[in-house]
Amino acid sequence: MKFYSTNNTGLRVGFKEAVFNSMPQDKGLYMPESIPVLDEKFLTNLDEYTLPEIAFHVAQNLLGDDIPADDLKAIIHDAINFLAPVVELEKNVFVLELFHGPSLAFKDFGARFMSRVMAYFLENGEKQLDVLVATSGDTGGAVALGFLGVPNTRVTILFPKGAVSKIQELQLTTNGQNIRALEIDGTFDDCQALVKQAFTDAELNDKFRLTSANSINIARLIPQTFYYFNAYAQLLRQGISKVVFAVPSGNFGNIGAGLLAWKMGLPVQHFIAATNANDTVPQYLKTGVYEPKPSVATISNAMDVGNPSNWVRIADLFKDEPAKLNALIDGYTYNDEETTQAIEELFNDHHYVACPHTAIAWKALEAYQQEHPSTDTAGVFLSTAHACKFPDVLPTNVADSIVIPEQVTNLDKKESKAVSLGKDFEGFKGYLLNNA
Ligand SMILES: *Cc1c(COP(=O)(O)O)cnc(C)c1O
Repeated sequence: MKFYSTNNTGLRVGFKEAVFNSMPQDKGLYMPESIPVLDEKFLTNLDEYTLPEIAFHVAQNLLGDDIPADDLKAIIHDAINFLAPVVELEKNVFVLELFHGPSLAFKDFGARFMSRVMAYFLENGEKQLDVLVATSGDTGGAVALGFLGVPNTRVTILFPKGAVSKIQELQLTTNGQNIRALEIDGTFDDCQALVKQAFTDAELNDKFRLTSANSINIARLIPQTFYYFNAYAQLLRQGISKVVFAVPSGNFGNIGAGLLAWKMGLPVQHFIAATNANDTVPQYLKTGVYEPKPSVATISNAMDVGNPSNWVRIADLFKDEPAKLNALIDGYTYNDEETTQAIEELFNDHHYVACPHTAIAWKALEAYQQEHPSTDTAGVFLSTAHACKFPDVLPTNVADSIVIPEQVTNLDKKESKAVSLGKDFEGFKGYLLNNA
C-alpha cells in the first residue's frame, strides 16, 4: 500500500516511510491511497474469528505486501496480546472495554503495533531509533510500555510536573531499560513545544535518529480499526447485526479508525462523537463551520483538544461524499458537572465504574438512543481507559470501588526515576546531548 498526504494527493510513500516520518513535510497526514473493502464472506462470518485473526486480515488488506504475511502475523500476535471484550450493561447497551492492555488505555493498541512495526523496519546495523514523546498522561504510558525492551530503540517521555495521575506517573517513571522519563516544570503544551523544537534542531537531528510517536502516526491508526471489527464479531455471536458506536473523542484518532473500518465494509449504522467542553467537532457537525479553539482543561483531560489533528483524515475519508459524513456521525458534548453525574449514574444504576472519558461516551449514547429509539440496534460505547488511572476526579464512593488491575498493583514497589527539567529548550537539548 502506498500512502499520500492529505495536503498533496500526488505524493506517494511506502508504509515504512509513512511510519518513520509520522507526518509528511507538507504537514498533511498520511492516508492509504485506496481503501480496500473486505470480502463479504469475511464480514458476514466475523463471529468465527478471534481478535488476532481479525486484526491480521484487516491489516493485510490495508498493507498489501509491505510486510510479508508471516511477519505481520507475528507482529500482531505480539502486539495485540490482550482482549477487548464487549460487556452488556442492559438491553442494547454495551461497553467495549479497551483498557485491558499493559497501560490500561486503548492507546495500547496503537502504541504496541507501531513500536513493533518500527522495530521490524529497523534494518540490521541501522542507527538506534530515538522516540521523543510528550504526554498529558495516557500516550506516554502506552508508548513506554509499547517500546519497553524493543531492541535498537530508546524512548524519552516528557510529562508536565504534577499534572498526571499517580498511576500514570508510575507507568512513565518505573520502566528503566530503554525508557527514560523527563518531568518538565511546565504544561503539556510546553512538553509538546520542546519535542517539536527538537525535531527542527539540526544538531540533534545530526546526532540522533529522532522519531515521534504521536497519535497521527498511521501505524497507530490502523490497529485501532481491529477492535471495531472484533466488537461487531462479539455482537454477531449474540444475534445482533445492527450497531451504533459512541466514541469518547479528543484528537479523533479513535473514531477516525471506526470510520475507516466502516469504509472497509463494517456495517455500522451510526457513529457518535462524544466530547467534553472541547466541542470543536460537535459544533462543526451542527453549524458546518470548523472553528478550532484553544483547548480548555476538563476532568476528562485526555480529550482536552481544541483542534483535533485527525479531523483532516476524517474529512479526507469523506471528501467525495461530504453529506454522507454528516449523515453518519452525530456530535454530543458534556461539561464536567454532567460528566460527574454520568459517572455516578453508571455506578448507581449499573454498578459500573467508568473513567470520565468513558462516562461521556455513555451519556452521548443514552441521548442518541432516546432520540432514535430502536428495538434491534445495539449501542456500544467505547471505554478508553481504566478508572484507576483517574481516581482524583471520581466521586469518592466510586473511587473507593475501583478494583486495581494486576498490571499496576506492584508499580509503587518499583523504583521511580524521572529527571526534572525546566521548560527551556537549551536545558532539554543539553540533557539529550549529555546523555547520548
Ligand atoms: C487519548 C484518549 C482519548 C481520546 O482519543 P482520540 O483518539 O484522541 O480521540 C479518550 N480517552 C482516553 C482515556 C484517552 O487516553
